Amino acid sequence: MKEIVVLSGKGGTGKTMLVANYAALAKEAILADCDVDAPNLHLLMAPEVKESGPFPSMKAASIDGAKCVNCGECVPLCRFEAIKWIGNSSLRKVAISVDECEGCGVCARACPEGAISMVERKGGDWFISSTRYGTMVHALLEPGGENSGKLVALVKQKARMLARNTGAKLVIVDGPPGIGCAAISALSGANLVLLVTEPTKSGASDFTRALNLAESFRCKTCYVINRADINARMAEEIDRTAADKGVQCAGKIPYDDEVVASMALGKTVVESGKGEARKSIVDSWNALMDIVSTGDDTAASEGPHDR
Ligand code: SF4
Ligand code: SF4
Repeated sequence: MKEIVVLSGKGGTGKTMLVANYAALAKEAILADCDVDAPNLHLLMAPEVKESGPFPSMKAASIDGAKCVNCGECVPLCRFEAIKWIGNSSLRKVAISVDECEGCGVCARACPEGAISMVERKGGDWFISSTRYGTMVHALLEPGGENSGKLVALVKQKARMLARNTGAKLVIVDGPPGIGCAAISALSGANLVLLVTEPTKSGASDFTRALNLAESFRCKTCYVINRADINARMAEEIDRTAADKGVQCAGKIPYDDEVVASMALGKTVVESGKGEARKSIVDSWNALMDIVSTGDDTAASEGPHDR
């Protein structure tokens, strides 16, 4: 089983559009949407949820009102000021603001009445769904939720398990934009990282950062330039940056109105188009399959290496 992780140094490069098209071409791959903060692969894949569950992200303190004697000892102990007095003087009582609690557990250990316990806090939900192109694992972090990297790891773990159980040969991961915790979690253990970029100043800059991240994980890497023809000079600059690091280009997708039109219909260009973009996407998929199946088969490490 091979795992291809599609990343971009920033949002809006067409990464998810490409993943959906690759899913259409792969047919039997397991899909993993690891953009857990703002997922949108489902808009193109129209998943039907078959299984779901909560993502317990962290623990938070909770006061048992029946045991608490409102002595106030815990209030000054919370250095995050999550424990407060509420109500007026005659009805004053101690309460915990769950959103401000960092889960350190100090108050629970200190309460003389044993009135505080640490309870699991839901940070989001995960889903296993069927789509017209196979099974998809996806998730959604609660607004303001923490530990997106852990939720990404959970999505990948479920996708790999499904691939093993069903004999699927490929897992395609739609990674989160950027190079933060969630992106690091998405690329660990990948057989191939595909970086999707666009020929703009910020696209080139974010591409370099994503390239450095993939390099620090010693992961086999290639790239695709989306809307490559809108700025030929910048596309050449991206090519030079990649060539300096020995990173192979898997394709260049030209700007094509068909891409926008197909997305507006909730479809992939592979399904509904017949123009240049469709042809380039198919070519890039074939190039990807060649790259992933040749050479060193080592998966990306689970953490960055010093360069
Ligand atoms: S230390 Fe315990 S008993 Fe005292 S106010 Fe806090 S929760 Fe209540
Ligand atoms: S667990 Fe830590 S952060 Fe949360 S309320 Fe208690 S002392 Fe404050």
